[in-house]
Amino acid sequence: MTSLIGKVALVTGGSRGIGQAVALELARRGADVVVNYLLKAEAALQVVAEAEACGRRALAVQSDVGESEQAVALVQATLSTFGRLDILVNNAGITRDALLVRMQEQDWDEVVRVNLKGAFNMTQAAVRAMLRQRSGRIINISSVSGLMGQVGQSNYAASKAGLIGFTKSLARELGGRGITVNVVAPGFIPTDMTLALDEVWREKLRAFIPLERFGSVEDVAHAVAFLASDEAAYITGAVLPVDGGLGM
Ligand code: NAD
Repeated sequence: MTSLIGKVALVTGGSRGIGQAVALELARRGADVVVNYLLKAEAALQVVAEAEACGRRALAVQSDVGESEQAVALVQATLSTFGRLDILVNNAGITRDALLVRMQEQDWDEVVRVNLKGAFNMTQAAVRAMLRQRSGRIINISSVSGLMGQVGQSNYAASKAGLIGFTKSLARELGGRGITVNVVAPGFIPTDMTLALDEVWREKLRAFIPLERFGSVEDVAHAVAFLASDEAAYITGAVLPVDGGLGM
């Protein structure tokens, strides 16, 4: 298995769901991890304890990634604790689903603020350290919705498609400096985010998945860990779907 020993990873929204699985997979493979959370310190500290049980150093830091000063403080906490930053996983994300005709302006603004501006804030804060190191891995968690669109998700799909353009632009800007920038685009993964979805709709969706099952948080975490590894050194600007074939 890929070794990430000696690397420092920062995972936004790392206290639950996909972010939690990513933080723990990176820790299992050897990375020290910073677990960013928004509200639930207890959950983040639990992830820290599990990472420490793997023999890693770990830190929980509260920040709203949509606020640039908080993103800067999060990166500073990482650098002052661990002295470097090798892997940034922009995982924090929210949905505020509604048909366009009913969508409130704040539903649009909040989704774009967290999902897209959050990635901008975090990447801008983190990239200086990576430029100094002349190496780095940035992995942005997009979505099959950003590739295919989804009824009721015009705000979310726009933010997730935006992340893809953001990623490809940065892959070009940073390629010469040893920094790769890639997207993982999950399909349907049961987490708190998808709990609210109607059971009938879920079953209809499952019928469209060639692998005939929903994904697990570990399925996504393995893809992120691969892109974070030395083995993925020649991959940048890529969009890796982890969706059981749903989006093809
Ligand atoms: P989740 O709701 O369990 O996790 C989202 C995490 O983001 C939470 O820890 C939450 O606290 C954090 N967060 C939200 N706003 C934040 C903010 N302003 N600052 C910092 N953290 C914030 O959902 P999940 O399914 O684990 O989602 C993780 C990522 O995967 C999201 O970007 C989501 O869009 C994406 N995704 C999920 C699915 C799926 O089916 N679950 C599919 C495609 C993409």
